[in-house]
Amino acid sequence: MPHQAVIRANDPKLRSWVPVPEGSDFPIQNLPLGVIVYNDRHRVASRIGDYVVDLLELNKSGLLGVDYPDAVFDNEFINDCIGMGREAMRDLRNRLSRLLDDRHDELRKDVDLRERVLLPINTVSMSMPVRIGNYTDFYSSKEHATNVGSMFRDPANALLPNWKHIPIGYHGRASSIVLSGTPVRRPLGQTKAADQDAPVFGPSKQLDFELEMAFVTCRSNELGEPIPIDEAEDYIFGMVVFNDWSARDMQSWEYVPLGPFLAKNFASSISAWVVNLDALQPFRVPGPEQEPKPLPYLQFKGDQNYDIALEVLIESPRFNPARICHSNFKYMYWNMVQQLSHHASNGCNIQVGDLYASGTISGPIKDSFGSMLELTWRGTEPLKMPDNTERKFINDHDTVIMRAYCQNAEVRIGFGEVKTNILPAHKA
Ligand code: CA
Repeated sequence: MPHQAVIRANDPKLRSWVPVPEGSDFPIQNLPLGVIVYNDRHRVASRIGDYVVDLLELNKSGLLGVDYPDAVFDNEFINDCIGMGREAMRDLRNRLSRLLDDRHDELRKDVDLRERVLLPINTVSMSMPVRIGNYTDFYSSKEHATNVGSMFRDPANALLPNWKHIPIGYHGRASSIVLSGTPVRRPLGQTKAADQDAPVFGPSKQLDFELEMAFVTCRSNELGEPIPIDEAEDYIFGMVVFNDWSARDMQSWEYVPLGPFLAKNFASSISAWVVNLDALQPFRVPGPEQEPKPLPYLQFKGDQNYDIALEVLIESPRFNPARICHSNFKYMYWNMVQQLSHHASNGCNIQVGDLYASGTISGPIKDSFGSMLELTWRGTEPLKMPDNTERKFINDHDTVIMRAYCQNAEVRIGFGEVKTNILPAHKA
């Protein structure tokens, strides 16, 4: 399996000749993939410190040592690149790591090439990295499912009987997933307050974020052919931070019997850099104990959770970013290989460039809840902001910032952030 191989690019002793600021999310041990726009052209790129690496220019130079097709980098999306497969992506990352390593000077000494390949981050703009074919959202945090079940249904029976047997999920909307930095407009929709007899149509009054991570797939299975759980990891390229915008008042009115629809499909936001699963290997940890034991097709080997610190901040025109919660991806009850293997267990075909979100990642204590719904307990316990205003949910002109990073004594692997400003609703 991939995680058992020695991945040279993960060596914590590696140092780059490219300056990497202290505390950067993007040391030489990260090397994620994204898409930059430079001179009106889209390019698949990597990132180190405050520089992006133009992989098309690097490939053309021959220094990578393998001739990848230029078209996989001269591309609006990373799909064709990651579609070369997990082994090829490991090899590409190792080769890039070697060229940036301070013990090697092939790239460093070629000043002309270096200036074409390494571009300061502030001279490029970021573009949506993945052409997302299919988007699925899971519901895999036990703490989140328990909190929501308590509020929407019954505290005594918060988890439905299927929850500990099935990684619950639903098919979301791929077309409305947007890049960090893209403003999101407050949705209009149908809601019915508990004390009203009839619904009304208008701006959502309970706009909320959901703190999630999502993985991107790099391999497809044939329609009708399941993915055994021990092979599932080969289908996962990497991960992003994911904000699954949710209109709670629309959700609570519409979700029975078929689940979320317009309360969720108006927008979700992702971070710009897709972090290779290889870079996260030093941060594998055991997950929560699963009791009852899952059915055999969901039984996995090894540690399948990851220690990824998460935080959410709110910023407004009236105050600087204020942290409102911090959680961790390690709390997930159902892990990624269980989610993916379950998804394909009926023969559903997974495709290159699909996005699979974790579901809101809530931890055990109140400060670790991953949505306003939970942090304010459906608006009954508002959060105090730095300007002494209160938030039950998200206001117009607020900006929500989510960050994710792994950190140990030797290395920090970060995801950057997903940052979204909320625009007022259109007139109903
Ligand atoms: Ca969600």
